[in-house]
Amino acid sequence: MSAKHIETEAIRTQIDRSQFLEHSNPLYLTSSYVFEDAEDMRASFADEKERNIYSRYSNPNNSEFVEKICKMEGAEQGYAFASGMSAVFSTFAALLNSDDHIVSSQSIFGSTQTFFDNILPKWNISTTYFKIDEVDKIEHLIQPNTKVIYAESPTNPAVDILDLKRLAQIAKNHNLIFIVDNCFATPYLQQPIKYGADLVIHSATKLIDGQGRVLGGVTVGSAELIQKIYLFARNTGPALSPFNAWILSKSLETLPVRVEKHCENALKVATFLESHSNVNFVKYPFLKSHPQFELAKQQMKLGGNVVAFEVKGGVDAGRRFLNSIKLLSLSANLGDTRSIVTHPASTTHAKLSEEDRLQTGITGGLVRVSVGLEHVEDIINDLSQALEQ
Ligand SMILES: *Cc1c(COP(=O)(O)O)cnc(C)c1O
Repeated sequence: MSAKHIETEAIRTQIDRSQFLEHSNPLYLTSSYVFEDAEDMRASFADEKERNIYSRYSNPNNSEFVEKICKMEGAEQGYAFASGMSAVFSTFAALLNSDDHIVSSQSIFGSTQTFFDNILPKWNISTTYFKIDEVDKIEHLIQPNTKVIYAESPTNPAVDILDLKRLAQIAKNHNLIFIVDNCFATPYLQQPIKYGADLVIHSATKLIDGQGRVLGGVTVGSAELIQKIYLFARNTGPALSPFNAWILSKSLETLPVRVEKHCENALKVATFLESHSNVNFVKYPFLKSHPQFELAKQQMKLGGNVVAFEVKGGVDAGRRFLNSIKLLSLSANLGDTRSIVTHPASTTHAKLSEEDRLQTGITGGLVRVSVGLEHVEDIINDLSQALEQ
């Protein structure tokens, strides 16, 4: 049979049925598994057999979740983690040695940046950042001890787009591992491995869960790299709980339809905001006004669910806007069915200097909207009344 479409893989990838022939996959809450005899046990521990031994290593629910993500991302293998950050931590901890060096996009998730700046230096691993408009200059940042190029696209919160094909080419030329955090796009909108990425990381907490219930993370990619990450994880214990894996595997069944609708709503919200006189600018990858509109169209199926815009009047206006919001949530999550607004300059990015903030595109009045699945007219009405305040 020919390769199936991503929607079908998300629904029909399923672990073997049990003796009860259930239609929907059951939840396997078990910490360990039994062996037939002494020889079976010996061979299993010697990795001569592929089977479940202990749920820190593998579990049927985790395997199903990982296999779905692998099929959707076009990856060989993967491992599921308790959170997006444990996926980020374990991936780097498994692959890097002391004195290694990372070249990373400057616009990355806050905790990932804290990990690079404050935790990895304990092992003398350093990071050099490039600005999103400096991709062509990054070869100058590569050192003899550089091991990884790291990027997110679209970025948070300014929704800039990085050229993944170009970054992959540079990584290949210098024999580096290219890792992409694909959380904002999901495998439905963008498959970085197709553009040459070696590994893809997801925080499954966001659009993959999509309903703000559980934390989860996953790293997928080449079998060779995943084997190293697996051996690190199996001995250090960041495994995803089988319950969360069961939830997340169910969530993947509806990911394509949910993301499709999120993007449809987001484009309407972005178009409305662009026409509003109290808005200085709107950033959304699939608006013609976006600086990387052409690249976004090539790289992504749709524009994603995050819209960034600047309220006229700076930090105070941004805060006043948030205080006037009635329906949308003020929350730290994103990719939920519920629309969420945040004001990065006074919250997630408040610790940065103004100069660093502006370099990552975060102006005082910048507001980030994670557009949800409420009726789009109700989302727009709430944003509209708050903009009049
Ligand atoms: C949320 C997020 C993470 C971290 O994931 P958790 O599941 O919260 O640990 C990493 N990268 C990006 C882009 C995120 O949005």
